[in-house]
Amino acid sequence: MSNSKDKRIKRLKKKHIWPSVLGLFLILMLFALLIMLALGTTCLDVVQRKVNECSNRSAKIAGLYEEYNETSAESITTSVLTYMDMETDIETVAVTDTEGGEVWSSDGSYPNEDKMTEFELRQAKFGSGIQMLIEEDEEGVFSEDENTLVINTDIISKLDFVSLLNETDVFVDGGQASLLQLKVWYAVPVNHLNVFVLNQINVYANDLVMLLVTLVLFIIMISIFALYYIVSFVSVIVSIRKTTKIIYTDMVTGGDNWLGFVKKGTSLLKRNRGSRRKYAMIHLRMYKYRSFCTCFGVQEGEALIEKFYYALKKSLKYHEVMAYHENAEFGLLICYNDEQQLRDRIEALKSTLNAVLPNMKMYFGVGVCQIEAGQRDVEQLYNNALIACDMMGEDTENRIAFFDEEMNKQKLWERKVEDEMDRALLNKEFKVYLQPKISAMQEILAGAEALVRWIHPKDGFIPPNKFIPIFEKNGFILKLDDYMLEEVASLQARWISEGRKIVPISVNVSRAHFTREDLAEHICSIVDKYRVPHSVIELELTESAFFDDKKVLLDTVKKLREFGFIVSMDDFGAGYSSLNSLKELQLDVLKIDADFFRGENVEERGMLIVSEVIDLAKKLNMKIVAEGIESREQVDFLVEQECDLIQGYFFAKPMAVEEFVEKYKY
Ligand code: C2E
Ligand code: CA
Ligand code: CA
Repeated sequence: MSNSKDKRIKRLKKKHIWPSVLGLFLILMLFALLIMLALGTTCLDVVQRKVNECSNRSAKIAGLYEEYNETSAESITTSVLTYMDMETDIETVAVTDTEGGEVWSSDGSYPNEDKMTEFELRQAKFGSGIQMLIEEDEEGVFSEDENTLVINTDIISKLDFVSLLNETDVFVDGGQASLLQLKVWYAVPVNHLNVFVLNQINVYANDLVMLLVTLVLFIIMISIFALYYIVSFVSVIVSIRKTTKIIYTDMVTGGDNWLGFVKKGTSLLKRNRGSRRKYAMIHLRMYKYRSFCTCFGVQEGEALIEKFYYALKKSLKYHEVMAYHENAEFGLLICYNDEQQLRDRIEALKSTLNAVLPNMKMYFGVGVCQIEAGQRDVEQLYNNALIACDMMGEDTENRIAFFDEEMNKQKLWERKVEDEMDRALLNKEFKVYLQPKISAMQEILAGAEALVRWIHPKDGFIPPNKFIPIFEKNGFILKLDDYMLEEVASLQARWISEGRKIVPISVNVSRAHFTREDLAEHICSIVDKYRVPHSVIELELTESAFFDDKKVLLDTVKKLREFGFIVSMDDFGAGYSSLNSLKELQLDVLKIDADFFRGENVEERGMLIVSEVIDLAKKLNMKIVAEGIESREQVDFLVEQECDLIQGYFFAKPMAVEEFVEKYKY
């Protein structure tokens, strides 16, 4: 998969997550801020109220000492104790003179000496009036004992209310649970006395009602918003998972699609890096799928593919992967121990597929690419397996082909040929070579066949078997044959104009031409551009054209002969020859394929077949050309059989036009 495609798919999968995550995060932040604000405001308010209460109480007690003298001491003490009984929040009252000398204490305790000294210092600074007794440690809060706090008014705004809650014991007082109890000394200078009041500050739940209500409201709101965002977040995740599933799901089989196969295959090969387990990439194709669809419909075809998919899937081991590719082709990544076992597995897979429709004979082609350690490019490996299958061709049904480097080279060559063919035609890199046809009786020149050669500017001489099959596959052969016909026509025209003695020259007409109904007219128009008699042009057709559109072939041959061209049947006897075609086709020349003169028992076969074919052709008024003749014995045999013309290396190989002219004194 290309990097940009990879990125695009990743982007597709990732979309929508971040807005939700960010939204959720911002909402949580906002609510955290609001809670802190509410908490802070409420705490400050509570503390402020409590401090005021303490201050008032302390001021009241101090008021009693305003008129203090030795004699009134007793009554003041009684009043203070009475007041203390009423105000349960006052724990201790202590009175000292300004020197710190003890005057009176409700329970005998005084702020300790150090504290007094500190207090005196502070009092000197602040003058008279109610002061909170101040003592600081490095955190700004100091506890004389566990339950007594001395608070600095300067730092009250910085007070860490939560840490106070944690530090101080919560205990039950008069049936109502106080959430927090603090003890604060208040010092009130009165005349020459200092009145110390130890106040208990109880913080009850009802002091925090506002806070609690706010908190509950906030929590409800947070929950609603958080729920909304969580739901939207989850739905995004679900939709992403769905999208991902769709991306990796094949619409025909409902299983993994090609993208999923590449993904899983790549990770399987990555995981297998250090392992000794061997893997092979399989390209499996059903032949004639299109015909199946034509007979039974596309839906039936797709249903068949789906059945194939699940039948194959069932036969795989749990870690092996597969997917449907296209056009009844499957990719499989399977493991194996040795080649024989791999072949057996593939045969078993094919049997599985054949069992899907037991009443129908189906053919499968399999290309195999054995994966070497470190190879991970799934698409490349599949391509190799596909090349192997392609190279095997459709005729070799039901076979297995293993990929090798030679195949890769062939594929690269095919690509190069396809890339360069148009330029080559334009630059006239295709050259006409002529191979003479010699009269069997007189052994003189009686005709020639034009055979193409590619003279490549870099690669030099390229024989036709290297490019004709490629052109036949991609259709370029149509252009090349027209070009050859035109070259031959122009050659003949030149030689006629030069007053030379000429012989018919044949050109090959590929079977691909027989799809056009006006083929005869088309050939005529090319030749007529050069105003040469049609009788100097021979057209070699192959019998295989019979298997395409028979009617077009018959009509074309008829018309060509009417136009005056010589029409011959090439390669007779090669492949699926049938004497039937001779009966239906009215032709001028029969070219007996070189295969008749090759291999073992040539004489015997020659006796039996060639003489019969020659006999038959003569009866049908056809001339005979024997191709591929390489020896004097073959020539003698053909002369004996009254063969008309002989073409073969025995007389001459195909040669460049100049050489031909030179050799035959044309
Ligand atoms: P073909 O039409 O059957 O051409 C005869 C082939 O047999 C030629 O191969 C020729 O060189 C070869 N040949 C002739 N005598 C002998 C012999 O004594 N021994 C052996 N071993 N071979 C002999 P070539 O030129 O390589 O062409 C191969 C095929 O390529 C041709 O077979 C023809 O099918 C195709 N071809 C060549 N030129 C063209 C063309 O211009 N158009 C088309 N459509 N096909 C062409
Ligand atoms: Ca030929
Ligand atoms: Ca031939």
